[in-house]
Amino acid sequence: MTSSALTATIDLDAIANNVDVLRTAARADVLAVVKADAYGHGAVPVARAALAAGATELGVAHIAEALALRTEGITAHLTAWLHNPGADFDAAIAHDIDIAISSRRQLDAVVAAARRRSTTATVTVKVDTGLNRSGVAVDEWADFADALAKARADGAVTVRAIMCHLARGDEPDHPLNSQQADRLDAAAADLRRLGAGPEVMHIANSPAALTRPDLARDLIRPGIALYGRTPVPERGDFGLVPAMTLTAEVALVKKLAAGQGVSYSHTWIAPQDTTIAVLPAGYADGVPRLLSGRFAVRIGARSFPGVGRICMDQLVIDLGPDGGGVREGDHAELFGTGHDGAPTARDWADAIDTIDYEIISGIGARATREYV
Ligand code: PLP
Repeated sequence: MTSSALTATIDLDAIANNVDVLRTAARADVLAVVKADAYGHGAVPVARAALAAGATELGVAHIAEALALRTEGITAHLTAWLHNPGADFDAAIAHDIDIAISSRRQLDAVVAAARRRSTTATVTVKVDTGLNRSGVAVDEWADFADALAKARADGAVTVRAIMCHLARGDEPDHPLNSQQADRLDAAAADLRRLGAGPEVMHIANSPAALTRPDLARDLIRPGIALYGRTPVPERGDFGLVPAMTLTAEVALVKKLAAGQGVSYSHTWIAPQDTTIAVLPAGYADGVPRLLSGRFAVRIGARSFPGVGRICMDQLVIDLGPDGGGVREGDHAELFGTGHDGAPTARDWADAIDTIDYEIISGIGARATREYV
């Protein structure tokens, strides 16, 4: 047990287990998605654990995230796929970061940076095959492909990969998944015809990696499943193990008389004489305020409901008239692996109609990350 007020304990063996589950399900190599500080788990330790477990490369959104991994000595192949107009492509090239390009403008900027440095940039072509988010748009494709082939012939770029992202990967049987894969295959064929053939292809996010091995191509690109959360609960947990457990130390225990209200606006009134406890976790730590009154925590073998409004730094639980045997300094599990019916991040997500991606990636910096 930890002495921190609020602790996110990260089980790196769970990460290793999940890499294995994914690789086996998809029969493909794993590009571990460690953007957003590895969905709140800590990018550097997770990247190391995933690579040690057999992931062959890493992916992030921003070049700054990739540079932070390089600074920590991570030398694995690393792709970054979201760039603002001022993105530092010079730094990306200098640190051997694979730049996933989504437009002609980005290509031109990368080529200019490569020329400035008298070197060759490694790029991935990100194609918009139907998500209608990032990626080279259909109406830009012909012009983009010609410009890419020319940049390749001039030695400004090496085309390492071609990728797309699925719009409905969490609906494994939806026809759009295969359509997007077909469109990517066609784009890759175009590039090969132009002499700018990519070495590898990747399409599959977590749900596709687990349910559609036919879409896997050379690499899969899982995020959420790496962290042990099934992205398609109706198909089971696939043997994934949740990697994050969030615990808070009980800061204060006190008596409350029947009829007294708790926290802002007194949205909960004690129905009887009871005992309450304060936990140092609030919405600034990623405990959604919307969850107020809709969650329970586990202390030892017992479950206690959250009561009243969740505040910025703290929340209140009802220990019941007998105090539940809880003392200041005890540890409350807010969410974790779900053992013995203990709460999970998905319970929180379901309670407020969101996804567990948002819960785990939202756990704030005040939660000490501990690695086991
Ligand atoms: N690939 C890209 C381009 C992404 O943006 C993401 C995350 O949103 C992933 C892969 C991983 O997705 P998931 O967490 O659903 O596996």
